[in-house]
Amino acid sequence: MSDQYTCIISSDSKHVVSNNQVQQAVAIIEATCLLTDDVSFNQFETLQFIDSGQNFSHVSCPYCNKEISEWWSEQMDELYASRFSNLYVNVPCCNITTMIGQLHYSWPCGFAQYEIRIKNLGESISAELLMKLEHLLETTLLLVYQRV
Ligand SMILES: [Zn+2]
Repeated sequence: MSDQYTCIISSDSKHVVSNNQVQQAVAIIEATCLLTDDVSFNQFETLQFIDSGQNFSHVSCPYCNKEISEWWSEQMDELYASRFSNLYVNVPCCNITTMIGQLHYSWPCGFAQYEIRIKNLGESISAELLMKLEHLLETTLLLVYQRV
């Protein structure tokens, strides 16, 4: 059976958190979400692309809606080679510059310096919990549902 992860990341890819904030956030999640195997925190050395794993299916242009998945994966290879130091891309169909995180993904995903990862959460994260975490971490958060 595959594992499901709920990854909580900041919507701001440059956002950082303190150890204290992380400990409090993990404690709140553990106290609130009782139906999980494991809550962990990962701090990355460089920006990481947090995708939805097997859930991932396609990427389209936010301006004209054209599917640009193949172009996207080439761009990702280049951006990855530069360790995501630059996240701006020029969409080929509309020739408009945007951030790669702003494209339309069929499943939510994002770029992050850190993540809080909840394994096999048997319930959904409540809006109330999300607001508490946003207040604590001082950022707006994105949820990425990952199946591996
Ligand atoms: Zn387009």
